[in-house]
Amino acid sequence: MTFEELNLAPAILKAVLEQGYDTPTPIQAQAIPAVLAGSDLLGGAQTGTGKTAAFTLPLLQRLSTEPRLTNRRGVNAVRALIMTPTRELAAQVEESVRTYGKYLDLTSMVMFGGVGMGAQIEKLRRGVDILVATPGRLLDHAGQGTLDLSQVQILILDEADRMLDMGFIHDIKKVLALVPKQKQTLLFSATFSDEIRELTNGLLRNPVSIQVTPRNTTVQR
Ligand code: AMP
Repeated sequence: MTFEELNLAPAILKAVLEQGYDTPTPIQAQAIPAVLAGSDLLGGAQTGTGKTAAFTLPLLQRLSTEPRLTNRRGVNAVRALIMTPTRELAAQVEESVRTYGKYLDLTSMVMFGGVGMGAQIEKLRRGVDILVATPGRLLDHAGQGTLDLSQVQILILDEADRMLDMGFIHDIKKVLALVPKQKQTLLFSATFSDEIRELTNGLLRNPVSIQVTPRNTTVQR
């Protein structure tokens, strides 16, 4: 399987090939067609498997080929929301969105706590297509009315197990109440506890399920 065979837009393929990747990783080869087809996805994958590109590439493709939406202020509405447990991961994911989306006309933003809200509010005012955020700060903005999630079409929960370990389940549930019911949802987790299963059962509709093991590790039997 090559990246050319994944039917990605030329502008996305160009950015991927510039990274020096020649072959999709197993999670990319399986997830990209499923996400492009509009399916919900349950991804059992750790860091190091290429999971970030596995959701970012089809996300960019879908947003770049579907009509832009505007919000009440007349600027680009948030169409994709990616939630991560930590600010470091949020920053890394948004960096990937920028890297793979460099030849597309989409805007992205990373949002996390521990820094002032002013600059974040200013960015939101100018319009954001793809928002990468940690749950707490996301809810701060939603509570203040500076963030509108009513037009989200694609929701991604990255490292969902870590979000639950960090006690974010209530925040996640609050965010779920702010996004439309009708949307595509992708959930990635390295482990599957009962709590994760309960979350996924309530959230994902007929998901395509993909399980991969990291490179250079042996499967435990
Ligand atoms: P991730 O699992 O998303 O954190 O990605 C792990 C690392 O693999 C990152 O440094 C990526 O740049 C790299 N990577 C992602 N996809 C590929 C690929 N298809 N070929 C080679 N490296 C990749």
